[in-house]
Amino acid sequence: MDLNATPSSERIHIGIFGKRNAGKSSLINAITGQNLAIVSDTKGTTTDPVYKAMEILPLGPVMIIDTPGIDDEGELGTQRVQKAVQVLNKTDIAILVIDSTLGPDKEDTALLARITEKKLPVIAVFTKAEKETDLTNYEKILGVKCMAVSSVSGQNIAELRLSLAALVPDKKSTQQLVGDLVNPGDTAVLVVPVDSAAPKGRLILPQQQVIRGLLDAGATAFVTQDKQLESCLAALKEKPKIIITDSQVFGFVAKTVPNDVLLTSFSILFARYKGDLKEAVRGVNMLKRIKNGNRILISEGCTHHRQCDDIGTVKLPAWIRKFTGAEPAFEWTSGTAFAEDLTKYKMIIHCGACMLNEKEMQHRISCAKNQGVPITNYGIAIAYINGILRRTLQPFPDILKELE
Ligand code: SF4
Repeated sequence: MDLNATPSSERIHIGIFGKRNAGKSSLINAITGQNLAIVSDTKGTTTDPVYKAMEILPLGPVMIIDTPGIDDEGELGTQRVQKAVQVLNKTDIAILVIDSTLGPDKEDTALLARITEKKLPVIAVFTKAEKETDLTNYEKILGVKCMAVSSVSGQNIAELRLSLAALVPDKKSTQQLVGDLVNPGDTAVLVVPVDSAAPKGRLILPQQQVIRGLLDAGATAFVTQDKQLESCLAALKEKPKIIITDSQVFGFVAKTVPNDVLLTSFSILFARYKGDLKEAVRGVNMLKRIKNGNRILISEGCTHHRQCDDIGTVKLPAWIRKFTGAEPAFEWTSGTAFAEDLTKYKMIIHCGACMLNEKEMQHRISCAKNQGVPITNYGIAIAYINGILRRTLQPFPDILKELE
């Protein structure tokens, strides 16, 4: 992993969709100027979505997602099509690839309908257009911008890049991660326990991003382990403006930090940045109504090298059992998997989602809202269980009223 690279979750996600043999892989190679995708005449070479982080001018850091053909057949093919469609949930800009020698058919228009239903910016790219191709008619039929390109000669590829750059959506909001909570010259203390779960030799992504956010705002960041928190506070001439802690040591930190110092957690900051803090605080109220057998979905954004270790699988369930005095039925999802039907769950507790892009986290929250299932976040749930949620929401006074 290149530690200087833009995190995947902060990159513009460009989903490349289309039928098998429409020329998706050749188009990716032409846009990126690299041999990233396997080009083959054999139909269905891309069986799972393939992610590639890269820099494309003038777009900047992007995540290109090559998806399986939307016309794949058989049982396996149907699963692949489903995977391709799921990619829409995290796509910022969609490219629908159509073979110009064949033109669009019902599979293309069906996918386009799903793309436009999600209000995603989209370009229909007609490949294999080695000769002059008039797309006026197709633009009328499809109702979206159409471009003819040749991945072989490179014709119109530069124009396509420019058109993609023009579609880069504004961030959902101008929500900052932490910069709006401090003023230039303020100090912040970050509490980062270094236990066996911490990755060797580095800080994890949420910690890095918070430090960067503080520096960008002109604040000074002190980083300490929980064990040294008292001596760190004693060494400071003035009280810090804010303490930002790992949620796991919330209880201890809350007891140690003076009440007039703002206190929150990395996870709560991320719930606000990528998710919906209001919804997460509303959602946590459900914890006090949990009874034996109620299903709770615990959802994490990554699978391999999980930085959250056993919080979701061991600690959180144990804390919830103790808090509720009940024996709920826990279920888990991780990585890109997220249950479609959420109605069987009493509530969902999601991790800070540092590895997911904003689009995907927003999608998960709206799925839960649409199905009437409360959704909260690790940090909020842990603070609630420890009886300190009100305290940790002090930096966000307008959210406090959501707490019952
Ligand atoms: S489990 Fe969630 S918060 Fe933890 S590292 Fe993975 S994506 Fe980030």
